[in-house]
Amino acid sequence: MNIVGARTTVVGTPWRELVFLELVTDDGRTGVSEVRMVNKTSTLLACIDELAPRHVIDTDPFDVERLSWNVLRAEYGRPEEITQSALAAFDVASWDLMGQSLGVPIWKLLGGRFRDRVPAYANGWYQSDRDPKSIASLARAVVDRGYRALKLDPFGAASAEIAAADLRQAVAIVAAVREAVGPDVQILVEMHGRFTPATAIKVAARLEPFDPAWIEEPVAPENPQATARVRAATRLPIATGERAHTMEDIRPFIEQSLVDVVQVDLTHFGGFLAMKRLAGWADAYSLLLAPHNVCGPVGTMANVHFAVATPNYKILEHFNDFADPWVQELVDAPPTVDRVDGCFAAPERPGLGVRLNHDACAKHPRTGGRITLFEHGWERREGRSQKEEGGSQKARVRRRKSDK
Ligand SMILES: [Mg+2]
Repeated sequence: MNIVGARTTVVGTPWRELVFLELVTDDGRTGVSEVRMVNKTSTLLACIDELAPRHVIDTDPFDVERLSWNVLRAEYGRPEEITQSALAAFDVASWDLMGQSLGVPIWKLLGGRFRDRVPAYANGWYQSDRDPKSIASLARAVVDRGYRALKLDPFGAASAEIAAADLRQAVAIVAAVREAVGPDVQILVEMHGRFTPATAIKVAARLEPFDPAWIEEPVAPENPQATARVRAATRLPIATGERAHTMEDIRPFIEQSLVDVVQVDLTHFGGFLAMKRLAGWADAYSLLLAPHNVCGPVGTMANVHFAVATPNYKILEHFNDFADPWVQELVDAPPTVDRVDGCFAAPERPGLGVRLNHDACAKHPRTGGRITLFEHGWERREGRSQKEEGGSQKARVRRRKSDK
């Protein structure tokens, strides 16, 4: 079995663009994968176009070690966010082809069935004003939908520091959510790397009474020294890793005990092969994985396979019940969270077990959708079109010219 073709499809939503890669083989199979590249879709597409002819076309999809070495080492340039995402796209589609050709789901090739049910947590559900009452009522709806865990960033557009009134409001939101969901539902507090260490420590102390299961990226996530200051000053577990792309990126956090829950993103870290290595390494430090996941149904399905086969797996992030739920229509059999226990079931179809519906994809062309975490109202995930942005950029240029 040799790969003879690679094609990409991009689907736009108001705040994210989903890139799908399909690898076609000489025996007529199609393997699929997905990456939601943070704000740099065109850059990822260019990288896929550049690397696929060198390292993917005319290769056997079983040779993922060679594929990974080629992208990481033979390319010579340092692997980073974009290249590791392109590698993940190649890797996941390759495992889909392996599973299909052997007639088994991917998890059987990753270590087999460790668990039948994969716990999920909801994100993208708090598209509302920063008002404790409205957010609490949305939180109740999440739990009614079956989820036993949910995440929120209640800090508005705060950056570095947070104004006293804003902090009071954020604490009131978390308090209202705890009151709404009861003591047994996990509340995960996202900080998006907003704060200085001093501010993060103050905020964490104010949140402790509401028993969050973790605080996420309290400070700039590439800075282990800053994380160490927060670590030393809070009892709350720390989650981080979604912006780590290589073992070297995450190494200080694991080796210096700065992280409790490793959130590396399967689709930005090189795919199944790299995640399997990471899981073993994290397990040597008794750490759990809760991979970051902002993908539509294909990337989510990849994460479900990985979770089924990985012992030190905690929980999987999921947006697609609350933000752009129509993305589920992009494939024939999307992964779904069971209303009974808030978990995904172990997939049973060969390979990844999903096929892209090109007609459904064609209905949602690119939007230029991106995330703007330091602007007021980002929680609504309404996005801004490229046209509007182009217009405002032109307006800024015009303004600068007229200033002269
Ligand atoms: Mg995050």
